[in-house]
Amino acid sequence: MQFDPYRLARPLLAPLTILIGTALLLAAAPSLPPSLSAIGPVLPWIAMLTGVGLSVLFNRGRTFIAFLSLLAAYAGIELARSAGAQSFPVIAVFTAVTILVPANILFALVYAERGVYQHRNYRWWLIAVAETVAVSWVASAGNNPLSGTAWKDLLDHWLLVAPPTPALGRVMIAAALVAAVWRAWPDPPAHKPRPLDVGMASLVVAFFIACEWFSSPGAFSAFIAAAAILLLMALMQESHRLAFHDELTGLPGRRALEERLPGLGPVCAMAMIDVDHFKKFNDTHGHATGDQVLRLVAARLAMVQGGGTAYRYGGEEFAVLFPGRSVDQAFGTLEELRAAIEGYRMKVRSDDRPRDSESGSQQRNDGDESQYKVLSVTVSIGVAQREPGLNAAQALRVADQALYRAKQAGRNRVSR
Ligand code: GH3
Ligand code: MG
Ligand code: MG
Repeated sequence: MQFDPYRLARPLLAPLTILIGTALLLAAAPSLPPSLSAIGPVLPWIAMLTGVGLSVLFNRGRTFIAFLSLLAAYAGIELARSAGAQSFPVIAVFTAVTILVPANILFALVYAERGVYQHRNYRWWLIAVAETVAVSWVASAGNNPLSGTAWKDLLDHWLLVAPPTPALGRVMIAAALVAAVWRAWPDPPAHKPRPLDVGMASLVVAFFIACEWFSSPGAFSAFIAAAAILLLMALMQESHRLAFHDELTGLPGRRALEERLPGLGPVCAMAMIDVDHFKKFNDTHGHATGDQVLRLVAARLAMVQGGGTAYRYGGEEFAVLFPGRSVDQAFGTLEELRAAIEGYRMKVRSDDRPRDSESGSQQRNDGDESQYKVLSVTVSIGVAQREPGLNAAQALRVADQALYRAKQAGRNRVSR
């Protein structure tokens, strides 16, 4: 696949816009009308509380942890500020927050998503209570009989000197960022990164900017709000992606296709594609191998030329739309696509991978071959175009009839 910088940069556009927008708003703050700047103090609260609420509603454990620790951190700092802007509690809470928030996010990132409601999730609450108690204890040093003054000396250690972000906090933030980017990295490269992973990474960046700007309370609140808004936006995008994208293949799904149809212009070629003898293929190699093959076929379809867009219609059936193209124009492209899939030697993981580790390592030493098998499939394609008096959905049905003729004529061909 050719290198496409726009494709790589695209997921970063929205986060960058919000981060730059926040900085611009801050710069313009003194000249904003009072009714607008009055939003400032409440915005972080609204954004974080909405985030916690939506995470519970959507049953998203990872974002729940991120929003809740951000909320607790912000609340703790606001509470400590009542003791004086430069007071020991403020510095203590801030130092703790720069370490604990990225630590929680790191935990959320390595943790497999199991939702907010899950078996034994009281452990989360134990961790949350332990963190809150520990931070309150440190922050109250010198003010209550339970805490000595040792914490005051500890916070003078070079690793913990704040503000801005203490060295240990920077290390933790960097670790969280690396984990978030690692998760967000698209795999395979043809897929887009998941919005939630990009959202987590941008939250870490916004949190870092907030911490670096801690001495200016306005800037700190603004970037905490930006962090929450970035993740909120990612939560929305993720819901959209789940609704419109097919999880197995990464292609836009049936709903995306059906919503696209009414908006098409009068000229549009459309193709229906079905994998040949796929049932037999599943029976011979197993369903898991069948899934891998569907993904590889879909990855090929996603690269279709000639202005086409591929969708997973359902099962082993796909559709490709060519807005603005006639059947004559699209036919050659589809023929190339068919030939490319026929000639594609797909390397798939063997189903019968060795179970015990010893024979596993032995086989790995023998080389890759035992771990993989090379398979190939063919597809049949039917293509039609919109004719006068035919709406797009009807034209797609005509393409389906053409597909039927391709199957009848012996498969592995394009029919019109
Ligand atoms: P032909 O289209 O050439 O007439 O034969 P076929 O065997 O492909 O026909 P049919 O459409 O009847 O079979 C489709 C099979 O595709 C049924 C099912 O086993 C398989 N299939 C559908 N969806 C999936 C999926 O998501 N994963 C896997 N592994 N198999 C699927
Ligand atoms: Mg079928
Ligand atoms: Mg089939």
